[in-house]
Amino acid sequence: MLNQYGYPSPEQVKSKFPSLEILVKPKAIVECYEKIPCNPCSTSCPFKAITIGEDINNTPVVDFDKCTGCGICVYSCPGLAITVCEVLEDKVRFKIPYEFLPIPKQGELWHAVNRKGEVIGEAYIEKVTLTPRQDKTQLVQVLVDKELLYEFVTIRSQDYE
Ligand code: SF4
Ligand code: SF4
Repeated sequence: MLNQYGYPSPEQVKSKFPSLEILVKPKAIVECYEKIPCNPCSTSCPFKAITIGEDINNTPVVDFDKCTGCGICVYSCPGLAITVCEVLEDKVRFKIPYEFLPIPKQGELWHAVNRKGEVIGEAYIEKVTLTPRQDKTQLVQVLVDKELLYEFVTIRSQDYE
């Protein structure tokens, strides 16, 4: 699916998520599907929760027991392939990487977008973090409807239809 269309199949996506019981706490969802020589996700994690192994071409594996959901790997991944996900009562909280303008602002409503680039709902901007160590990759914390758990991946301004 990824090789043919440029986006993963629903099965590939779900394979990267832990169970809903685990997702009551924030956990990194690492959607790195291809064998590529890359490892900042692993080296940036202060809790050693992401393993690549001796061959740098290996795809990363997350130890959800060790992951605290801190979000450091999210802005450290050059491929923007990582989010942090936390399932609440009727919403899902994501931390996503975002490198476009305009910069989202706390309290705004943006479009929720899926892996095909389609608008699938609304995303409430809870928080935007941009520190010098993030090297211009904003960490945007959003709330989306729970039914979008395996669909949501990024945001788009409602000013650009
Ligand atoms: S979210 Fe934090 S603890 Fe979890 S894998 Fe990423 S860097 Fe490590
Ligand atoms: S840093 Fe990103 S692109 Fe590189 S291996 Fe890790 S998840 Fe994949």
